[in-house]
Amino acid sequence: MADQHIADVIVVGAGNAAFCAALAAQARGARVLMLEAAPEEESGGNSRFTAGSIRVVYNGTDDIKTLVPDLSEAEIAQSDFGTYTADQFFDDMARITEHRADPDLVALLVNNSFATLNWMRGHGVRFIPIYGRQAFKVDGGFKFWGGLTVEVVGGGPGLVAMLTAAARRRGIGIRYRARALDLLFDGLRVEGVRVRTPGTVEELRAKAVVLACGGFEANAEWRTRYLGPGWDLAKVRGSRYNTGDGIRMALAIGASPCGNWSGCHAVQWEMNAPEFGDLAVGDQFQKHSYPFGILINARGQRFVDEGADFRNYTYAKYGRAVLAQPGQFAWQVFDGKVKHLLRDEYKIRQVTKVAADTIEEFAYKLEGVDAAEFLRTVQAWNAAVRTDVPFNPNVKDGRCTRGLAVDKSNWANTIDTPPFEGYAVTCGITFTFGGLRINTAAAVLNTDYQPIRGLYAAGELVGGLFYFNYPGGAGLMSGAVFGRIAGASAAGELGPNSNGRARSSAGGS
Ligand SMILES: Cc1cc2nc3c(=O)[nH]c(=O)nc-3n(C[C@H](O)[C@H](O)[C@H](O)COP(=O)(O)OP(=O)(O)OC[C@H]3O[C@@H](n4cnc5c(N)ncnc54)[C@H](O)[C@@H]3O)c2cc1C
Repeated sequence: MADQHIADVIVVGAGNAAFCAALAAQARGARVLMLEAAPEEESGGNSRFTAGSIRVVYNGTDDIKTLVPDLSEAEIAQSDFGTYTADQFFDDMARITEHRADPDLVALLVNNSFATLNWMRGHGVRFIPIYGRQAFKVDGGFKFWGGLTVEVVGGGPGLVAMLTAAARRRGIGIRYRARALDLLFDGLRVEGVRVRTPGTVEELRAKAVVLACGGFEANAEWRTRYLGPGWDLAKVRGSRYNTGDGIRMALAIGASPCGNWSGCHAVQWEMNAPEFGDLAVGDQFQKHSYPFGILINARGQRFVDEGADFRNYTYAKYGRAVLAQPGQFAWQVFDGKVKHLLRDEYKIRQVTKVAADTIEEFAYKLEGVDAAEFLRTVQAWNAAVRTDVPFNPNVKDGRCTRGLAVDKSNWANTIDTPPFEGYAVTCGITFTFGGLRINTAAAVLNTDYQPIRGLYAAGELVGGLFYFNYPGGAGLMSGAVFGRIAGASAAGELGPNSNGRARSSAGGS
């Protein structure tokens, strides 16, 4: 029987969740094979497109030093990291998802976050504090905000390179250009996958399969079917390989769908970006300094509270707001007073940008916008800003507007100082929220809510964690935590003589 198996555990995908699953399974004694649909040069999924920022629980500078051991005394002295407690992370998940997130899954995510990053560190993944994007310099020091404090060295490409190296060091096989098509299932247990490689289709048998092959964001037909009309028009921020295969394969053998199938993570994204992500640009097509400006649609009007919360807590839902505007675009507008706060992504070559020294000239440069109405909007805006409240980008400063149809809650500044700058954005989808139902061992459940033997899942294709919105940095953390758990659980299928524990919730070693 054993010789029929190409490996003990097959992991479908080669992004963050997949690598964490593979490493955890291997550590429990499993022979592991990873199948990646993309060629090696495009591999790594959405994980490779990320900035590598990860939301993790920490209780002060000592915990940050554990994650970043080479932090210098000078860096520590000029950084106010604050804390991000388990309660805060849990509360953020509850608040952001409007109390829909599965509390058991959230508890696993939160309570395993710090230990999982340390485990990744043990596999050679290195972290640094996110100076710049998550902290502004005030009085010579960096004050962090928003609970998102560390990122992977080298961002998403660094993460995938370090995880790939770790997998190779441990003898984990990776087949590129290998797209899993179906699960081999005898009605009771999963026994492997059918896979297509260039020129062949084969059946690969294993004792367990971990699905870690992303959501359905790159599938225009499924987007329209589940997210709704107009979503076919969204740009895909990352990998073009995440077409919902893992979800489809599992549903086909009776898995239970779970979570917010009509919801997704979608941001403001360069209007003229390509249909799918470009690894040379990565996440730089995003435009995330909108809390310091205003958003204008084709009618020349504002349509969201740009300062409702820190960027980390609004950015993932404002892509949907832009998609709903006429022509599916908006202009982000800033004036000279806040120009220095714009993130690096505003300085790339591939931006659709206009600038002018008078607001009238500027209005006529905003392509597709009703210029006269825009000028009226700015006039009303300037009169509504509470200039008596001090502006402070590091805290929710309460510097709001009063009396507008759509007020702004924080960081409101008059638009009166040249140069005036506009950046055109559309909707860029990151990943979909709906997926498979899993238990706390990351086993996929069937429609009777029983585990499907031999089948585990992690990463984007798990449903039940994110609804409506998403706190920045939770995607990589979720993939890592549930990947590690799924890998350990899958290795538990090796049998009584293995050192695996089928229902472990603590992850691999
Ligand atoms: C531009 C961008 C920036 C982001 N920034 C951040 C960030 O800073 N922090 C954060 O936490 N999250 C971020 N995210 C979200 C994050 O990328 C995801 O939540 C996370 O990477 C998902 O990991 P995953 O392993 O589930 O999926 P992926 O990393 O997408 O991996 C899925 C893999 O499965 C493969 N695959 C698909 N179908 C098949 C098949 N049939 N057979 C074999 N292989 C298949 C794909 O090729 C891919 O390699 C960002 C996303 C994007 C697009």
